[in-house]
Amino acid sequence: MTIEVRNLVKTFGSFKALDGIDLKVDSGELVALLGPSGSGKTTLLRIVAGLDWPDSGEVFINGEDALAQGARERHVGFVFQHYALFRHMTVFENVAFGLRVQPRAVRKDEAAIRTRVKELLDLVQLDWLADRYPSQLSGGQRQRIALARALAIEPRILLLDEPFGALDAKVRKELREWLRSLHHEIHVTSIFVTHDQEEALEVANRVVVMDKGRIEQIGSPGDVYEYPATAFVHGFIGESIELPVQVEGGAVRLGGRPLRLAAEGLAPGASKLFVRRHDMLIGPPGSGAFEGAVRHVRNFGPVQRAEVALSGGETIEIDAPRDKELRVGDMIGLEPRRYRIFAG
Ligand code: ADP
Ligand code: MG
Repeated sequence: MTIEVRNLVKTFGSFKALDGIDLKVDSGELVALLGPSGSGKTTLLRIVAGLDWPDSGEVFINGEDALAQGARERHVGFVFQHYALFRHMTVFENVAFGLRVQPRAVRKDEAAIRTRVKELLDLVQLDWLADRYPSQLSGGQRQRIALARALAIEPRILLLDEPFGALDAKVRKELREWLRSLHHEIHVTSIFVTHDQEEALEVANRVVVMDKGRIEQIGSPGDVYEYPATAFVHGFIGESIELPVQVEGGAVRLGGRPLRLAAEGLAPGASKLFVRRHDMLIGPPGSGAFEGAVRHVRNFGPVQRAEVALSGGETIEIDAPRDKELRVGDMIGLEPRRYRIFAG
């Protein structure tokens, strides 16, 4: 099943929640919609699901005009952040629900329903919880059951809106791996919404980065991390040092002083310089494009994180290997191994 969205616009009053969205999801893909809160992710998902309608634009599911269909006809599985399980029903009955309410003509008989529910509980590895009630489950277990319930009707596509958003960090991490391997098993075309970049990059085979109702970039996790297309993407994905610079007279200037950085091909004007924290090479003063004094060193975790006050007055944070000796008060030179400059 494919999903295609063309030039989708959605306004609430005078506010443009979606501002011309074009997106194609191939059959069997797991695509992540990644963007800050308010960027339009839920709005887009709800329109694909048939829970809301756009002002203009088109939606196709498997090549069919989805906007001409109601939510039911689209045959979409939906999982939300907040557990939507029925509290008065057992896990088994929650998963069976979608099958029991199907039109009589297509409804499975009781034996077939029991077999299907058993399969689904096996699939999410929670068959042993069949007789429990939602209140007796952990948050992570509830979301796995919610997923089993969404899959019960054999949806053509699966839409997940921050499904792990309410869970704690460790459980989220486990569920990401679990979801990725589950998708590998069932291959249902899926859109996974999150504001958590790590989650998006780990779960999906393609990432759609959104901001202010627009798509900023679509690419593999490697692409959006290594080759951000815009200043927004660079700032949002991965940890970056961000400095306001001026491109002027063939030089890149920080606070008026030229930096030893190539300015060829850059449009003159106010710009933003981005460097990944781990891409700053540390040397003696005078050895790089920047110079500064070490203000603070955090020496735990996989790398050392140092706060450096640049001579120009800006303060940045860099990541250095643990074996690099850094002491508060040291003057150092910094040379970006890689950097990007975006206009604006
Ligand atoms: P996200 O899921 O990325 O956090 P949403 O799609 O929920 O973003 O919302 C995008 C923007 O549209 C937000 O600014 C939100 O306040 C606004 N919005 C969403 N739904 C409504 C609504 N029903 N009425 C008015 N504004 C809305
Ligand atoms: Mg949302």
